[in-house]
Amino acid sequence: MPYKFSFDLSRVPQSFFRGLVKAAYEKNMHRRIGRGVRQLAEKLKIRELTGLNISDASRLVEDLVDIHARNLLDREKFLKTRKRALFLPHCSRKYMDSRCRARFDPKVPSYYCAHCSPDCLINRATALGKEGGYDVYVSPGGTCIYQILEKNSYEGVVGVACSQELTKGGEVLKNKNLPGQAIFLIKNGCADTKFNLKSLEEIL
Ligand code: SF4
Repeated sequence: MPYKFSFDLSRVPQSFFRGLVKAAYEKNMHRRIGRGVRQLAEKLKIRELTGLNISDASRLVEDLVDIHARNLLDREKFLKTRKRALFLPHCSRKYMDSRCRARFDPKVPSYYCAHCSPDCLINRATALGKEGGYDVYVSPGGTCIYQILEKNSYEGVVGVACSQELTKGGEVLKNKNLPGQAIFLIKNGCADTKFNLKSLEEIL
């Protein structure tokens, strides 16, 4: 329903909106408005679209709000960084067996895409990351990412993962005082996971 009043926020500085999100985020408000989140999940037909029960759908919406808030809060600081890493999930590879030609280097630890399939999501995301000057890692899990962050002095990090992993990773970055940007999986699981390439392109 359209508003019954008119407004012009063009003179309100962006810092006001960032401050608002920051305050709400720091007070964990989006985690405490259970009923509102449930209503939002209902309105967006998350249950019908995903088959999730209302409790899981609400949890998902809470995590997505969390991720978007962190992205917004870190964006300015992130844009000032130069040395950046991009972490991609290995479960988004086109193949999870020997048909994937990626090499795994346990010393890093990371997979390195061999570009065997032009339509592989990881192949395309790797190309985007490299074009943007990122060090690109295709990671089997959170532990590998923490090892890489310990060994390298990155100034900024972009991560693609399921919303639960991103929420955990966000805490790690916060403790390290590293600005991060996150892209959540739109299809999770152990294999054939998916993320939105366009969203990744916009955030890099
Ligand atoms: S394009 Fe890369 S990640 Fe995808 S299946 Fe081939 S080697 Fe593996």
